Amino acid sequence: MGFDYGNKKPDGQHEHHPVNLEGEAVRPYRDSYTHNTCGVLTRMPAGCAETYQKNPKFYGSTFCCGCGTYFPVAQFKWKDGITVGE
Ligand SMILES: [Zn+2]
Repeated sequence: MGFDYGNKKPDGQHEHHPVNLEGEAVRPYRDSYTHNTCGVLTRMPAGCAETYQKNPKFYGSTFCCGCGTYFPVAQFKWKDGITVGE
């Protein structure tokens, strides 16, 4: 059975996101990134931030609250300048 993303919220974001909290943290805890295309900062729920911390390549795409939709993670940078997903 596939993951239940729930309904789309008014801002275009899915209601639920899968998380993977297994393993040790291999990255710093980071919960906000900027979309290279529009320059808008997006903050994510703690479960997603923790997933990026432990399993940085878990997500193939991620949400931009500026554009209101999902794009490949390589289009985003954390506040420290590192590309999301690396
Ligand atoms: Zn954007």
